[in-house]
Amino acid sequence: MRAVDIVRKKRDAAELTRDEIEFLVEGAARGTIPDYQLSAWLMAVVWRGMTPAELASLTDAMLHSGRVLDFSSLAGAKVDKHSTGGVGDKTSLVIAPVAAAGGLRVPMISGRGLGHTGGTLDKLESIPGFNVNLSLAQFRGVLEKCGCALIGQTPEIAPADKKLYALRDVTATVESPFLISASIMSKKLAEGIDALVLDVKTGDGAFLKSESESERLARLMVDAGTRMGTRVVALITGMDQPLGRKVGNALEVEESLEVLSGGGPEDLRELCLELSAWMFVLGGRTKTIPEGKNLARETIATGRARDTFREVVRQQGGDAKVIDDPSRLPRAKSITRVKAPRTGIVTGTRCEEIGRASMMLGGGREREEDTVDPAVGLVIEKKIGDAVCAGEPLCTVHYNSQARLPEALALLDRCFQIDAGPPRQLPLVRKLIGAEAFG
Ligand code: URA
Repeated sequence: MRAVDIVRKKRDAAELTRDEIEFLVEGAARGTIPDYQLSAWLMAVVWRGMTPAELASLTDAMLHSGRVLDFSSLAGAKVDKHSTGGVGDKTSLVIAPVAAAGGLRVPMISGRGLGHTGGTLDKLESIPGFNVNLSLAQFRGVLEKCGCALIGQTPEIAPADKKLYALRDVTATVESPFLISASIMSKKLAEGIDALVLDVKTGDGAFLKSESESERLARLMVDAGTRMGTRVVALITGMDQPLGRKVGNALEVEESLEVLSGGGPEDLRELCLELSAWMFVLGGRTKTIPEGKNLARETIATGRARDTFREVVRQQGGDAKVIDDPSRLPRAKSITRVKAPRTGIVTGTRCEEIGRASMMLGGGREREEDTVDPAVGLVIEKKIGDAVCAGEPLCTVHYNSQARLPEALALLDRCFQIDAGPPRQLPLVRKLIGAEAFG
């Protein structure tokens, strides 16, 4: 078999066989196919798409390019949640301990932030000492002890994805829904989970902007999981403005702790309850979503979810005192405010640019090798639908570098739309995909 023939076949829109796809994926994982041929094939996929059989072969081959974890000897359903990424999306930090405190096992392998979106690992690492680089044996140990564990990608899990994702990043081939679906699902299914809840973001701050694109991706991922015998539901959720009020790593940990303590902003709290409830239903802990939400609320009200998070932080080497005293988190040296230029109602935000502003302050990374400043970020003072008077703060900027500030402020100055009339308010959860299978 020759890579050039497979690239030509895809270029000419013919369907690849399982053997041909396995040959490419194995070549990517082992380094036996050169980058230029893999890149040419990726671009052919972007243009030609994939048939359902091709996508199934690709997902399987990527999944089996590394280890598939087996937690079947641990009691309780193994359930995870994955978000396609957004601005201020810190739900994993709340949901993992809530689900664990409610009787599920959550083996969560997460990613870092890239571009305008944040990443769970960067947020966790803002807790002094928190180690996301556990071995798989340590990961299992924390999961056994606490019911959840949160780590980064390991070299053993879906190594073909690591290679292909790095190439996609530099060849303008990230955006194919087929490649995204195979990338995400191969990694998630390698966690050895029984069920998965997907939070597919849509809107300006999301990776995919239109609801139809998000829905298409959600369907591909639900189908991939279902085919492999994993129970999967996707929620299409709005990213027209940051989730919650805080954007930036330590600030987002602080806000997650607010939710785990029974407070926090309503949109964040509600989404955490909804996603946790789906995890409980898929994991067989409750029959219905309202029951699932009640269980999630109970884990918060009794302090069990917070206790679980405290123990996870301790087990993973972090400063567990942060849970009761968030002032121990890194703090930026300075703050300034972006003020409303006129009186009116906030009718919309440029959510992606808000994420970019936080990145410019040092809170995110443009390239994988960039380091992040855990302390910097933004606090959104006015959300869509809020009334504002001229001169009132729209957001507070937490910064450390004077040099980075002007560019971020220039962006933020145009991020809030203020009009006379009320905004079009859309529900946070726009659609459910795959939910019919679970009543
Ligand atoms: N996240 C992933 O893990 N893979 C993609 O392809 C896109 C987002």
